[in-house]
Amino acid sequence: TKKILLNSRPEGRPGDSNFKFETEQVSEPKEGEVLLKTEYVSVDPYLRGRMSDAKSYIPPFEVGKPISSLMVAEVLESKSDKLQKGDHVVGMLDWKERQVASAEELRKVDEDKAPLSAYLGILGMTGLTAYLGLTEIGKPKKGETMVVSGAAGAVGSTVGQIGKILGLKVIGIAGTDEKVEMIKNEFGFDEGINYNTTDNMTEAINKACPDGIDVYFDNVGGEISEAILFNINKFSRTVVCGAISVYNETSLPKSISVQPFLIKKSSMMQGFVISDYSDRHSEGVQQLAKWLQEGKLTYTETVREGFENIPQAFLDLFDGKNKGKMVVKV
Ligand code: NDP
Repeated sequence: TKKILLNSRPEGRPGDSNFKFETEQVSEPKEGEVLLKTEYVSVDPYLRGRMSDAKSYIPPFEVGKPISSLMVAEVLESKSDKLQKGDHVVGMLDWKERQVASAEELRKVDEDKAPLSAYLGILGMTGLTAYLGLTEIGKPKKGETMVVSGAAGAVGSTVGQIGKILGLKVIGIAGTDEKVEMIKNEFGFDEGINYNTTDNMTEAINKACPDGIDVYFDNVGGEISEAILFNINKFSRTVVCGAISVYNETSLPKSISVQPFLIKKSSMMQGFVISDYSDRHSEGVQQLAKWLQEGKLTYTETVREGFENIPQAFLDLFDGKNKGKMVVKV
């Protein structure tokens, strides 16, 4: 079976040479284990962090060892009474076409309730991040104004829609005109700003948010987020969810000091990591599924095909080539 290893740690922007394809013999499942066939692979910006050896909230990948991410797989053979042949499961698995895994580490998903890929996005990690990040830290109140960066991505497009469900005015920031149109027309954002064609972001944000900003859901960090600070309201909240604009930086970026802005506005900025809220995951999934069923929430995906295209799909996240959740169908 084919597998993808971390070949070397990237310096700056990752590229093809950081990945290595190999083949291996698949072992037989032992008691409590299952043999899996990979169906969908989630590629996510946070994997960039695991390719480095810097200390973080999850351990780094090891050079020469398989890369792993959340995946949907089909059970081909089961030596566990928890799972049966033909079941579909989600789990943190290696980038391999086939593999043996412990049934304990897997969660069964129902293909009749939602398309399998949805368990990696809207009903998975990115949907939960949007819902729990916004409600736990953003603490939105009806009538408030929220800005979302990375607005056309998996997390961002969901945050914006939940904002609308909760009665907020929502402004999204994204990298192309097409994405700006999409977030307004398909996801119901009130306004959109293309950061690539806007010279003065502070001014553009000020214009789009005449009443200032009460909640900022930050997926990108860097200069885009700095422009937000000039427009925050008294007692505003910033959800620091992602910082993709700086993940490939090799030196510490020159940055303005945020403290004076926060002090002046008694504003709060708080980091968020989805794994800290695992006790609320099932409740979150239930809420997201309900909104989906009621037609209040929708989602889009960019689906790449083929095991060999997993690295490129990951690399393309840094060029904004995805709309909504990026997944690879194997
Ligand atoms: P996305 O689907 O949003 O994909 C990444 C997007 O980031 C691209 O489509 C691109 O859109 C944008 N982007 C890439 N480079 C830059 C840049 N230099 N400046 C601004 N935007 C850029 O990914 P996710 O929804 O999965 O994740 C969004 C963010 O949330 C990431 O930062 C991720 O690390 C974080 N995250 C955090 C979690 C947590 O628990 N804290 C959990 C899940 C995700 P565009 O064309 O608009 O530039």
